[in-house]
Amino acid sequence: MYQLVDVLVEEMKSSYPYLVEKQEIVKENIKLEEERFFATIDKGMAIFEEELKNTKGNLFSGEVAFKLYDTFGFPLDLTEDMLKEKGIKVDKKTFDTLMDEQKAKAKLAWKGSGDIAKDGDFKAILETIGKNEFVGYETTKCQSKIIALLDDNFKQVKSLENSGWMMLDKTPFYATSGGQIGDIGYINTNDINCKVLQTSQYFTLNLSQVEIQKGTLKIGDMVDAVVEDRQEIQKHHSATHLLQSALKKVLGDTVSQAGSLNDSTRLRFDFTYAKAMSKEQLDEVENIVNDMILNNLDVNIQELDIQEARKKGAIAMFGEKYGDVVRVVDFEGASVEFCGGTHVQNTAQVGSFYITSEKGVSAGVRRIEAVCGKSAYLLSKSNSKNIENIENSVKSKDIISSINKLKEQIKTLKIEVQTAQNSTVSVLDEENINGVKVVVDILNNGDLKAKVDDIKNANDKVAIFYYKQKMIK
Ligand SMILES: [Zn+2]
Repeated sequence: MYQLVDVLVEEMKSSYPYLVEKQEIVKENIKLEEERFFATIDKGMAIFEEELKNTKGNLFSGEVAFKLYDTFGFPLDLTEDMLKEKGIKVDKKTFDTLMDEQKAKAKLAWKGSGDIAKDGDFKAILETIGKNEFVGYETTKCQSKIIALLDDNFKQVKSLENSGWMMLDKTPFYATSGGQIGDIGYINTNDINCKVLQTSQYFTLNLSQVEIQKGTLKIGDMVDAVVEDRQEIQKHHSATHLLQSALKKVLGDTVSQAGSLNDSTRLRFDFTYAKAMSKEQLDEVENIVNDMILNNLDVNIQELDIQEARKKGAIAMFGEKYGDVVRVVDFEGASVEFCGGTHVQNTAQVGSFYITSEKGVSAGVRRIEAVCGKSAYLLSKSNSKNIENIENSVKSKDIISSINKLKEQIKTLKIEVQTAQNSTVSVLDEENINGVKVVVDILNNGDLKAKVDDIKNANDKVAIFYYKQKMIK
């Protein structure tokens, strides 16, 4: 099916020029999906054939039919059809029992989480109050009014004493989206001390989860809302943009974002790429990002018409739908991306950037984890501390040659121990039975193979029994 992409792009590109840009990625993704699909089918078929061989009589195992359905996506009809021509039926009773069990399990798993969309009062809030405003692009501290309060189950309440969710008319708290984690912080008045634990978006409403330490929150209260830790979060978010740009430079333009997470201590970036990156490629990417940081690039954030933004070469997240007007985050052309998140004003604020791991997360998707800002400093500090500890332990500043020396010593000592053990004279119990020398002994140390070889070389016909003694406590 992936081969059809070329034809489709050819036919549609005049109306959708964007398709050409994404042609290779789309093709690669469809191809991977197809390969995965066929591999699953093959595995399922092998299990089906195996069970068919073992089927005596005309009843096919309900357990296997369920496994084929549950793990390999074979609908029951398909299994039944394949069996029909052989005159075999599926053990439906077992299949149905397993199906009911699974449904019950799924229901139980849901119970705890609750169906927020169905049970929460979001629709009522939207109808009576409407959306609230996010003012956190400009400020991380402001005076705001509480316009709605919800309990832990998202039911509207007039006041909160312990915990729940709060909606401010103008909120400086960023709600989790676009990979950037939602803000934490606190709100204060003379009578209230309250922590903001997280901020999320529910049906376009920006809500902060609160834990009240002193006082009672009431609708209509004016509060001082203060965001904490945003600096470190946005350093990681900006670094993610620089990372994506560097990856495209090193691995090619087909690299496409497949997900990301930025919080105050680290960043995680998933992208489409078929194989593991080499050490050299990772070093190059890390260097490019650090160069961008050192070049003091100013950020320029603009709301642009989507066509204009594309003309500017802004990177859009693959598979994401955008409106007519998009927010474009531009670091002096070194990285230009569609993005709704918050950022540093200048790349220098990112500090420094270290890649901490690169691994595969699924077929065709790799994940890079990295740190910058304060976390980068802490990582570097802890690495220096480790090296210092090693220096003290090997009593030398040249730790590599010291470790190599130690390795050599261990090797020499091992050989010496082995030789000493092998030379230990062991008195063997030997007996001659019908011309065959029978050796029975207990081996406590030394090289078993060397000992057996010695005896074999010294005798024509020999049977050897060695025992190892075990301490019984
Ligand atoms: Zn972004």
